[in-house]
Amino acid sequence: MSASVIDFVATEARFGAHNYEPIGVVLSRGEGVWVWDTEGNRYLDCLSAYSAVSQGHCHPKILAAMVEQAHRLTLTSRAFHNDQLAPFYEEIAALTGSHKVLPMNSGAEAVESAIKSVRKWGYEVKGVPDGQAEIIVCANNFHGRTLGIVGFSTDPDTRTHFGPFAPGFRIIPFGDATALAEAITPNTVAFLVEPIQGEAGVILPPAGYFAEVRELCTTNNVMLVLDEIQTGLGRTGKLLAEQHEEIEADVTLLGKALSGGFYPVSAVLSNNDVLGTLRPGQHGSTFGGNPLACAVARAALRVLTEEGMIENAARQGARFLEGLKDIRANTIREVRGRGLMLAVELHPEAGRARRYCEALQSKGILAKDTHEQTIRIAPPLVITSDQVDWALERLATTLTQDFS
Ligand SMILES: *Cc1c(COP(=O)(O)O)cnc(C)c1O
Repeated sequence: MSASVIDFVATEARFGAHNYEPIGVVLSRGEGVWVWDTEGNRYLDCLSAYSAVSQGHCHPKILAAMVEQAHRLTLTSRAFHNDQLAPFYEEIAALTGSHKVLPMNSGAEAVESAIKSVRKWGYEVKGVPDGQAEIIVCANNFHGRTLGIVGFSTDPDTRTHFGPFAPGFRIIPFGDATALAEAITPNTVAFLVEPIQGEAGVILPPAGYFAEVRELCTTNNVMLVLDEIQTGLGRTGKLLAEQHEEIEADVTLLGKALSGGFYPVSAVLSNNDVLGTLRPGQHGSTFGGNPLACAVARAALRVLTEEGMIENAARQGARFLEGLKDIRANTIREVRGRGLMLAVELHPEAGRARRYCEALQSKGILAKDTHEQTIRIAPPLVITSDQVDWALERLATTLTQDFS
């Protein structure tokens, strides 16, 4: 690391809360799949800000929409209407086949908003006795970092010493429909689940799981809430990951790529009367649905479809997965993923995934380890075949090294 890089890193460490452990690279510019550090070194971004930059860094059309809107009007609060919210609603509803939309900012806020809404639906529509609503969630979930959400995490780092936590959540194993059937009671209002568990290490459900889940939820009048904050908007090669399962959620949560990485924009989408239970004054956000956010999100959604990014994610994801499977290395335990949401899980004896990510950095690839043994690979959806092959060559060399 050069003197200037050490300065940035040291200053962050001195003043900042140490709630992250970044790889030692200081980025200053991005374009498409590429980012550059302060020394001018170029890297292929295989994290895409946890899938928020799916449209590629600094997409010119999203940038133009943001700049244009920033010149006109940025924030009105929801005390007044603005001329970007209605078209945003119309466009996202048409794209996803949803009936109602609640705009928020971060992903965690969308999750919190969904929890509030399904509880209210449970009391006012389903008829659950007040204060008794139960929500079922999965072990190894990741739904965000707010107090409400970390209370039903099963990761000790996420929870420890942050309690006391809110009651009303039941945890079952992911991928086990029988466990869901057994956990449902008359007071169950919702099952909140990720279509693919992202932060847990790109864990795919067994085939047929979600079809069973859908049926159980319908039969028992339980709202199926799919957290598509990471899997949604093309990441898995379809607009929504639920399409792989041929099901429809009752409530869908979007965030991350909803703004193409320009601005925090999230949304709760609902296909029924869940959001209809909210009355004026019962929920809100100063920034939620602001004209700048809406203009950015509209452009982010438009380029995703107009520029064929979803189809490209399917095509390049298949190529990437094949290529990863072809790498013969003793370090690799399993390669898995769907679309451009990929992961390489290493054998425990291979050493920590972080060492491999650091080695990849020196070869011009930025990737992120998760849970000690897994390297996740999630480049922007605009990646080309040549770039996939370029990345595979470097991954092959790195994974055949042994850092144990
Ligand atoms: C990132 C993520 C969240 C939280 O989003 P934030 O914007 O960080 O609050 C929630 N759920 C899933 C599945 C995510 O990947």
